[in-house]
Amino acid sequence: MAKRDYYEVLGVGRDASEGEIKASYRKQALKYHPDRNPDNSEAEARFKECSEAYEVLSDPQKKSQYDRFGHSALEGNFGSGGFQWSDFTHATDFEDVFGDFFGSIFGGGGGRRRQRGPSGPPRGRDLKIAVSLTLEEIARGVEKKISLTRQQPCSTCDGSGAAQGSKRKACDTCGGMGQVQQVSRSFFGQSVTVAACPTCSGEGQIVTDPCRDCRGEGTVRESAAISVKIPPGVAAGNYVPLRGQGDAGQRGGAAGDCLVFIEEQEHEHFVRDGNDILYRLPVSVSQAALGDDVEVPTLLGKVRMKVPEGTQSGRMFRLGGKGIPDVEGRGVGDQLVEVAVWTPTRLSAQERGLFDELERLHQDRVKSEGKSFFERMREVFRD
Ligand SMILES: [Zn+2]
Ligand SMILES: [Zn+2]
Repeated sequence: MAKRDYYEVLGVGRDASEGEIKASYRKQALKYHPDRNPDNSEAEARFKECSEAYEVLSDPQKKSQYDRFGHSALEGNFGSGGFQWSDFTHATDFEDVFGDFFGSIFGGGGGRRRQRGPSGPPRGRDLKIAVSLTLEEIARGVEKKISLTRQQPCSTCDGSGAAQGSKRKACDTCGGMGQVQQVSRSFFGQSVTVAACPTCSGEGQIVTDPCRDCRGEGTVRESAAISVKIPPGVAAGNYVPLRGQGDAGQRGGAAGDCLVFIEEQEHEHFVRDGNDILYRLPVSVSQAALGDDVEVPTLLGKVRMKVPEGTQSGRMFRLGGKGIPDVEGRGVGDQLVEVAVWTPTRLSAQERGLFDELERLHQDRVKSEGKSFFERMREVFRD
């Protein structure tokens, strides 16, 4: 299979900055993470592909080789099998994305659990899921129902992993300690290291007669519906942790957490700027000149707003407290309304006549009075 261009894989241009490359990779990795795409080999391949692209494009030296000579320049960088997870040097930079991923692909959580005594059954993995919210939902706060698949305790064996009528027993290799000593001799003498027991993976106990439904794991993959309360004021990239709602741990281990990441939907009228909301209000030339009482949409419903007589295009009005509440409870943003004067097109004969007449009446006023227009443009009206 031909390799795709790394920039294309990450969806960035060749002139993308370091920060853009990083942000784009993070987004892709979250999207294709195996936790969010269980049993989807295509997503897994994409996950690896974008990680490889990031590994190269985040390293100035590899990037410049790649920029000049393409994929062939990097053949020597990764082993004969191409890019492997062991080539990936950024796992700790993206701990929030990878979670326990490396623990699970390399088996047994690497060096994380190395205390004395048996480690007991492993804790379940954290899950990461995304919810996409409208600005209205963000302004009010919302409770969302989410369906997901996760490891849940096996009901046949009650999560123990042992077949009915049997029990787990202490591991013979380590005598239930979960650890074994390894003695190695070298030119420098003898050294003793303590490692997790290879037979029981450090748990101290083994299942001799595994439950058939879960093959001794104590967990089975099932779909679940959970609900999450999202407070007002959240922003894209924030997450709500649901403790103990991740994968159940094998053989009775503690459950991981479920991290619900917030995504923000684009809005047809509004643009968010921190806790403020920007809105552009179209008015006609005559409304701007004569003034009007108009209806303005806000995130919390429609409100009436006065456009004063002689309002210039670009004038900004502030609707206090009509924005988004601060996520930490420190006040509420405003809605900023920018007046945009609509110039009519495709005039009828009657309209043309009226504008002609106005033009004669205005004569040189645009020149003499227009100057101060720019100074007033950013004037803020407080209600
Ligand atoms: Zn079972
Ligand atoms: Zn053991």
